Amino acid sequence: MRHDDRQPRISAWLGAKIWHVRVLKHLLELRGNLRMDEAALQHHQDRKLRAIVSHAYRTVPFYQELLDRCHVAPDDIRGVPDLHKLPVIDKTMLRDLPLDRKTSRACRGDRIVSFVTGGSTGKPFTVYLSDRELQARVANRLRILFLHGYSIFDRTARVEGAFSSVERGHLHRLGLVRKFVVPADIPVSGQARILVQSRPEVIEGYPSRLNLIAKHLETAGIRPRRPRIILTNSETLLPAARDRIEAAFGRRVTNVYDSHEFAQMAWECREHRGLHVSADSLVIQILRNDREVEDGQEGEIVITGLNNRVMPLLRYRMGDTGVRSTRQCPCGIAFPLLEALTGRTNDVLFAPDGAEIAPQAFDKLFREHRGVLEYQVVQNCKDALDVNLVVSREYDGSADATIEQALRSRYGFTVRVNRVDHIARTGSGKLKCYVCNLPGAAGSS
Ligand SMILES: [Zn+2]
Repeated sequence: MRHDDRQPRISAWLGAKIWHVRVLKHLLELRGNLRMDEAALQHHQDRKLRAIVSHAYRTVPFYQELLDRCHVAPDDIRGVPDLHKLPVIDKTMLRDLPLDRKTSRACRGDRIVSFVTGGSTGKPFTVYLSDRELQARVANRLRILFLHGYSIFDRTARVEGAFSSVERGHLHRLGLVRKFVVPADIPVSGQARILVQSRPEVIEGYPSRLNLIAKHLETAGIRPRRPRIILTNSETLLPAARDRIEAAFGRRVTNVYDSHEFAQMAWECREHRGLHVSADSLVIQILRNDREVEDGQEGEIVITGLNNRVMPLLRYRMGDTGVRSTRQCPCGIAFPLLEALTGRTNDVLFAPDGAEIAPQAFDKLFREHRGVLEYQVVQNCKDALDVNLVVSREYDGSADATIEQALRSRYGFTVRVNRVDHIARTGSGKLKCYVCNLPGAAGSS
């Protein structure tokens, strides 16, 4: 009997070990890719692109219909220069499709992982991927960290939205890759205290939240221990926020452009002269009116993922804008550089006691409920929030009360949940998820 009881634990332990060995294998491969020259990278992208387009056409009904409708055959896509032949897609085309239309029938037996996106766009959307792809994503994040001097003995403080948590696995207990979360639902002074006292070597999180913490440290005259790495992600890093975070912590910020759809899409190397595109796992195009713009010009970011075979995303509109650099990076990595990234900004909200709440703090709350198509949190007075929701038939009406209760108990807000048909976009066409209309609050982020 004793033997039987231990069996699942042993296999879980073994499974975790194998999982980490596979991450390590991906990491070695990804680090090797950084040595590719431009020609090798182009060859690598073309080969992977042909494979993913053919796979998508053969096994995902959505792509078969899409390509047939446009009279494009998979063989017409020989490499990146042919990518323009495929139409641009976005999440609204995929979101409401049944799973078997948008995922590959070749991956039915595989272990599938799902992520619900929300973030800056305010439109939750579920992305499916294989365990293997998840390992590659973990390896890609580690590749960035190692480039900046990471050690597996480092402690990482994550400064994310409210309602976040970290699972502590085998490695954490062994003192390796330790992570902890700085809670978002306590006053900024408390967040700063936790961050300072825990003396992390790596700080990772939303720039808007780090900015608020840095502002507090500056005002209080507190000088924290200098971390080795500060990684910001998920939102646009505004220049003023970068300056303040760097001044408060005494370390350059490494900005990462990421998403649930593609994980780390671009990242800064140690030169900090732009963001290197993860060109070994995706192709970025910068478009205006569906045509590629010259390098140096701003346009919409459209991405083709080269790895995700469960739910391929080909020429997928991110909803962000960016500029591709005309410069080469002196670090020697041939992956192209992105310069400015725009379009992921939100307002700071204020708790009834006046404490600042970083944008995106509530994202997870909305992602947890099925059927939320779009959301927007509006603050018109100091102790009340309006939550505007566009929902589908899948939405469970009782979630209104759960959302209201969560925001009331954590922050003390009176919350009104409004079901609306449409949420107005900003002048640049973006859905702004967090809007603060309190007098004098504009530009507080
Ligand atoms: Zn570089």
